[in-house]
Amino acid sequence: MTDITKLEFNPLQDNFSKLELLETMPHYSGYINYNNGDVLSKIDATPVLAARVSTGSGLRGYQQDVKLLKYLWEQKHSSPFEQVQLKFYVKAPIFVARQWFRHRTMSFNEISARYTELKDEFYIPKDFRTQSKTLKQSEGGVLPENQQNAAKRLVESSNSNSYRAYKELIDMGVERGLARTVLPTNIYTEFIFSVNLRNLLHFVGLRSEVNAQWEIRQYSYSIEEILAFVCPEIYILYKG
Ligand SMILES: Cc1cc2nc3c(=O)[nH]c(=O)nc-3n(C[C@H](O)[C@H](O)[C@H](O)COP(=O)(O)OP(=O)(O)OC[C@H]3O[C@@H](n4cnc5c(N)ncnc54)[C@H](O)[C@@H]3O)c2cc1C
Repeated sequence: MTDITKLEFNPLQDNFSKLELLETMPHYSGYINYNNGDVLSKIDATPVLAARVSTGSGLRGYQQDVKLLKYLWEQKHSSPFEQVQLKFYVKAPIFVARQWFRHRTMSFNEISARYTELKDEFYIPKDFRTQSKTLKQSEGGVLPENQQNAAKRLVESSNSNSYRAYKELIDMGVERGLARTVLPTNIYTEFIFSVNLRNLLHFVGLRSEVNAQWEIRQYSYSIEEILAFVCPEIYILYKG
């Protein structure tokens, strides 16, 4: 049975961020029920069926099918994993979306800030991290407690100043596409993306790593939770 609560997440634990699994092919609630009572999700079964096209045979039993799945994974026989498709909805700060859009094997559609006014929805970190002294792309630690509020106030005032300027430009009649240029990259955007399972596993392989920025990592962890739920056998192989 599908537990729908596992398909929707609030990765940044605020009022705005969201990651939701919209649909999959095959459907994530489908299961193969073997004669001996064993069960395999249809997503886990898909690479097995795709690989067996080459020998003209189908599913053979839970043990044999999971064994083939493991063989495919270990041999990097990766194209059968491309037969699973997934589509997600994401609400994320623009700086996270920018990192996400670098993944060229995903198909995206994003809310247009030329057609619609962006909402007064900004990401404010719960804990401000410090810059690592050794690694240029990493966080060092957490800003001292007595500076956390000062950092938060700076971000809040930047948010309200830029959003006020945005609204004033729109009220003056400036086109939305130009008015948005005063907004910072911590404002929220929304997009959908579709991707095959092979490339999604590549994404989480990069974005769940500690050298990826903390914020995109939280989204990646949510995707991992979804994968652990909809294709547990493949997820076990991915985790090694
Ligand atoms: C921690 C981290 C830091 C980063 N820092 C920076 C940075 O400072 N500056 C920056 O510009 N980017 C940065 N990136 C982005 C990074 O360079 C990649 O663009 C991004 O991670 C997408 O990876 P990818 O190309 O493997 O994935 P995808 O674009 O999803 O592609 C998946 C795979 O398809 C193949 N592929 C796709 N397109 C091509 C192609 N045109 N030619 C050949 N093979 C292709 C490759 O095998 C690729 O691995 C960073 C990424 C990470 C994870």
